[in-house]
Amino acid sequence: MDFNLSDEQRELQDTARRFAQEQMKPVAEELETEAKPLPDEWLKRYAEMGFLGINVSEDLGGLGLGNLEALIVMEEFAKISSAVAFPIFESSVGPVRAIEHFATDALKKRIIPKVCAGEMIVAVSMSEPEAGTALTDLKTRGVVDGDTITLNGSKRWCSGGGHSQGYVVYCRLSDDPGAKGIGAVFVEKDMPGVSFGEQERLMGFRGVPSADIFLDNVKVPIENMIVPAGGFPKLMEAFDLERCGNATMALGQAAGALDEVLEYVQERKQFGKSLVEFQAVQMKLAEMATRVEASRLLIHRAAVNSQDGLPSIFESSVAKCFANEMAREVTGHAVQLMGGYGYSKEYPMERRLRDSWGWGIAGGTIDIQKVNIASAMVGRRFNQRS
Ligand SMILES: Cc1cc2nc3c(=O)[nH]c(=O)nc-3n(C[C@H](O)[C@H](O)[C@H](O)COP(=O)(O)OP(=O)(O)OC[C@H]3O[C@@H](n4cnc5c(N)ncnc54)[C@H](O)[C@@H]3O)c2cc1C
Repeated sequence: MDFNLSDEQRELQDTARRFAQEQMKPVAEELETEAKPLPDEWLKRYAEMGFLGINVSEDLGGLGLGNLEALIVMEEFAKISSAVAFPIFESSVGPVRAIEHFATDALKKRIIPKVCAGEMIVAVSMSEPEAGTALTDLKTRGVVDGDTITLNGSKRWCSGGGHSQGYVVYCRLSDDPGAKGIGAVFVEKDMPGVSFGEQERLMGFRGVPSADIFLDNVKVPIENMIVPAGGFPKLMEAFDLERCGNATMALGQAAGALDEVLEYVQERKQFGKSLVEFQAVQMKLAEMATRVEASRLLIHRAAVNSQDGLPSIFESSVAKCFANEMAREVTGHAVQLMGGYGYSKEYPMERRLRDSWGWGIAGGTIDIQKVNIASAMVGRRFNQRS
């Protein structure tokens, strides 16, 4: 077992860190104040640098590297902000991976190279007004008739909603009840019958668009089927990687907060000496660092053990759960250590705390991850309905 990154991985990390630290801080501030997504010209820059689709195969326009490499790069951007890291999250661990793993070659070739080139963003649309944690209660229906699927339904909380050009829409593709009837279809933003609600005003995640999606008799060609009815377990398998990405986004909030607060406590003086000279501050810093390091190791374990396939539900849920709770705690401490300045919108610290809260809801709440973990421990699923 080797806990060190290879020379190549370190080089990639340095490149991502330099790019993110030197170029993305003012952009992050702008996205936060104006609540707008990363402009297209930046998406193009990311693509040129190879940051989109790091772990996507080269024949589909990616770099052909592993999940670990993708997560290492993502963390460096997430340290700056969720909004500037979000396109990397979407392209490396998001719904694009479900397309890469399960869609037909024709669909893969139509979508994925565009994502890696920064010409298309693909979002995932699972949640519905009545189906959040109880995802298998979703009602959006896709009726297959010859070579067309007709979709009807309402989706909720879609990150990227109204902005992304493509959507992986979870829907019912047969009359089978619960998970058995669920599959997923690729829907394009400008297809007739697709419309969006108002942009959501969330506690955090500013710069990541979010909106309801309404599907009214949307006719989708059968080639856009990603997985047919019965494919829900496959979708959840792909989601195991998304969980590692979610955990990394949370880790980034905490690691970025720690880096900045470390500088702050060495500069800020009270009672005639730097804050870092107070033992209570030293204890806090050590606790924060310990939690950040432990979280990174759990994420990297899940990624490395996936051997560039999809991670296990146990390891990805443990990583997500720990990172989500850790990020809320560590960013909370960072706000506190900066006193009034931590609470001010003039500094990015309070934003990290707000975003951290969101990562513990997005992609399955912390509590349902704990149910997953206990399930994997005893080797059976717990019925939530009876
Ligand atoms: C920032 C953000 C981004 C998101 N992005 C997307 C996206 O891109 N696409 C998408 O489809 N969805 C997205 N979501 C939606 C997200 O997946 C859901 O909010 C989440 O799954 C919880 O569903 P809910 O909000 O309906 O809460 P509910 O399911 O109503 O849960 C409310 C509370 O009850 C608890 N609870 C419910 N059932 C159980 C149980 N069986 N055991 C223990 N506790 C339980 C939950 O843990 C939670 O604390 C996003 C959400 C947020 C906040």
